[in-house]
Amino acid sequence: MSKIGTESNPLRVAIIGAGPTGFYTAEHLFRRKDLVVEVDMFERLPTPYGLVRYGVAPDHQKIKSVTKVYDKTAQKPGFRFFGNVELGKHVTVADLRQYYHQIVYTTGAQTDRQLGVPGEELKGSYPATEFVAWYNGHPDYRDYEVDLSQESAAVVGIGNVAMDVARILARTPEELAKTDIADYALEALRQSKIKDIYILGRRGPAQAKFTTPEIKELGEMEDAEVVALPEEAELDEISQAELANADRGTVSTVEVIQSYAGKELQGKSRRVHVRFLVSPVELIGDENGQIVKMRLVKNELYKTESGSSRPRATDQFEEIPVGLVFRSVGYLGVALPDVPFYDKWGVILNQEGRVMNPETKEPVLGEYTGGWIKRGPSGVIGTNKPDALETVTHMLDDLAEGKVLEPIPSAAEAVLALIQERQPDYFTYEDWLSLNELEEARGAENGRPRVKFTSVEEMKAALGKSQVPAVES
Ligand code: NAP
Repeated sequence: MSKIGTESNPLRVAIIGAGPTGFYTAEHLFRRKDLVVEVDMFERLPTPYGLVRYGVAPDHQKIKSVTKVYDKTAQKPGFRFFGNVELGKHVTVADLRQYYHQIVYTTGAQTDRQLGVPGEELKGSYPATEFVAWYNGHPDYRDYEVDLSQESAAVVGIGNVAMDVARILARTPEELAKTDIADYALEALRQSKIKDIYILGRRGPAQAKFTTPEIKELGEMEDAEVVALPEEAELDEISQAELANADRGTVSTVEVIQSYAGKELQGKSRRVHVRFLVSPVELIGDENGQIVKMRLVKNELYKTESGSSRPRATDQFEEIPVGLVFRSVGYLGVALPDVPFYDKWGVILNQEGRVMNPETKEPVLGEYTGGWIKRGPSGVIGTNKPDALETVTHMLDDLAEGKVLEPIPSAAEAVLALIQERQPDYFTYEDWLSLNELEEARGAENGRPRVKFTSVEEMKAALGKSQVPAVES
């Protein structure tokens, strides 16, 4: 057999998960002029782009234009997309090991971290991740029920996801109607009774994880205004010292927060209260198990031995009336069947992208990982590009040393036959491009970027893949 990576013997790579990291991994591989590569990308959903489609806030359309780069990658000869195909259900790791030299898991982080406080299971308490998936039209969450008849909501955590959730709750229907928010979410939010939104940070303004454009944007909404308490916006000694050595972004973020503090209210319909140095200690329900208030403890900061600042509870408590609580304290990766996992961090057990065997502590031959399921849920979309490069570099080093799997002869045809047999309803990239055009056309009728299809059945019907008539979402 000729050398791997040539016309007669291309390097065969399976990528599991069609989010940004999956595409960056494929892009880095196709960039190698000295290699002929075949990439099969498997995705549980019919549609590509992962969190760019189902995570990025609908009022942040510009960020979504990054998908143009992914489409370019998808046009490379040697690229195939198998959407609506799930690892563990339609194909197994053992199957893939027969057909590819290398397998890369780029499945992101699909669930969330919990607060671990009493009352978290009450009616009205939701993971932000699910609310985000719901308003973005994720097929798994279209029937999710969020009770927007409440007047007051809390978002726990001060990262950019918390900002997204707060904005979507605070924006007017007119603002939302210009976006690609799911139609059902637009209707539900049109009826929303929410007046007050509390964003709760356990540390101070200098330790906020959200970025300056996001906190600024909060103050630029049509009919909502930001409330910050002067005593919480003021920095304690620990924070002042941190800020003296902080980057420009953190300094600007603190400045924006302080500009909100004590500002006179303009009488807009909704208020976004940005609170600092408070932690929920209990969610309190009524006789029907519906959250009615949240008990908070005031925190103070202390320095750990490693020099980081941590929150510590004081003996001061308060209660705020809230009927809805969205915990937004970080995403968490989900283990894949037959792939070594490190539960504590919610990541695939790996060293710089090489999947590791927990018993032998050696790399698993031919298996790699990238993105949030490799390093945890941090960074912006672009952070995944160098992350993917690190993994690809190790893949190519291993290839050079002959440390790759051995696919069976005619593996490309064999994979196609297997998928056709196990999941006849798979979606190709051409299917996605057709769906994309249809969604954009539906949007253009209403001055919106797109109107998403939000169920697999709807997508199949729109492409004439099933007998069910296409219904409007
Ligand atoms: P994140 O940035 O890690 O923020 C998580 C927040 O939860 C932090 O404020 C953290 O506080 C807090 N937290 C953690 N445990 C807590 C607890 N037990 N009680 C109270 N608060 C707690 O995570 P994220 O917001 O989910 O965002 C994930 C990644 O996606 C980030 O890198 C983010 O920048 C990115 N993202 C970017 C955009 C954008 O660019 N527009 C939009 C969305 C998401 P501590 O700091 O004290 O731990």
